[in-house]
Amino acid sequence: MSGVVARFAELKIDALLVSALPNIRYLTGFTGSNALLLVTPRDAILFTDPRYTIQSVKQTAGRAKAKTVRGPLVAAAAQAIASRKLKRIGFEAGRMLYDAWQRLKEAVPLGVSLRPVRGVVDELRMVKTDREIELIRQAVLTNSKAFESTLSRLRPGVSEREIAAELEYQMRRNGAERASFETIVALGPRTALPHAEPTEERFRGDQLLLIDMGATREGYCSDMTRTLFAGKPSRNVQSMYNAVLEAQLAAIDAVREGTTAGNVDRAARRVLAREGLGKAFVHSTGHGLGLEIHEPPRLGKKDATKLRAGMVITIEPGAYVEKVGGVRIEDTVLVTRTGCEVLTPTPKELTLL
Ligand code: ZN
Ligand code: ZN
Repeated sequence: MSGVVARFAELKIDALLVSALPNIRYLTGFTGSNALLLVTPRDAILFTDPRYTIQSVKQTAGRAKAKTVRGPLVAAAAQAIASRKLKRIGFEAGRMLYDAWQRLKEAVPLGVSLRPVRGVVDELRMVKTDREIELIRQAVLTNSKAFESTLSRLRPGVSEREIAAELEYQMRRNGAERASFETIVALGPRTALPHAEPTEERFRGDQLLLIDMGATREGYCSDMTRTLFAGKPSRNVQSMYNAVLEAQLAAIDAVREGTTAGNVDRAARRVLAREGLGKAFVHSTGHGLGLEIHEPPRLGKKDATKLRAGMVITIEPGAYVEKVGGVRIEDTVLVTRTGCEVLTPTPKELTLL
């Protein structure tokens, strides 16, 4: 909370209204699905509805004062703003719904100004605490265990959806609350779709298999992609795989405190361009993760964010060729002072079985 208040002067605000649930969870510990948080230099008030009365008091103890509200939360926040005589209220421009903003605008007293701010809490969240890193490590291990036990059960004839269901079941069996995102399973030429949704397509062996999955533990995510080939891959597929793996290792090698996110992205892109796959690499090299699966920093070409020790990011270059297939290799990585630690223990070999 003090990290947020420390920025008030520079942002020219007297209070911040936090509406993004992951940001509220980060600041207060509250995990419910409906809340609004008002942070002032003197206190923090969490507004929620009667479903969460007991839970909110317990979870936010020592961090915020939980208040149960009947009716719109913004109306209660406006009242608190009025009674504290706060004048300049920052709100999360990228996170607040227009509807809520409008209702807030109507409810605050005359003379109160609403000021859009961006990324205040999100920036704080970029560098993880030891406790957060520990939870991400657990999420990563849960993920890898689930992957391993699913692969050992993989038989010809199972569908993409059944593989996804097994992965998610195994994640929960290994301690996850849920999958961090909709599990991606793609077979054969469908691997060329970077975000393929699992279908009834059946695994027949002798084809590409791409799995992108993540497990959540105490709110914290992991993210991993592996591309496998059952049987003997064609020379084309093998060379595409080798290029993506080389790009991934080059990007990992570029990660260290002080370098920019763009530098890491370029390290991957350089390798794929040299191998004639520059145009086949259609997304960025990675992203931060934590309470959300996609957090800043983004590791794209032009991203100037300096990496700092304690950031947790993914490194996931890929190449996608229509009708042939796609390859992506993704690890969850912890930035350190001297380089990085690859948290994902799963081997990166193309050949399955
Ligand atoms: Zn992923
Ligand atoms: Zn990812």
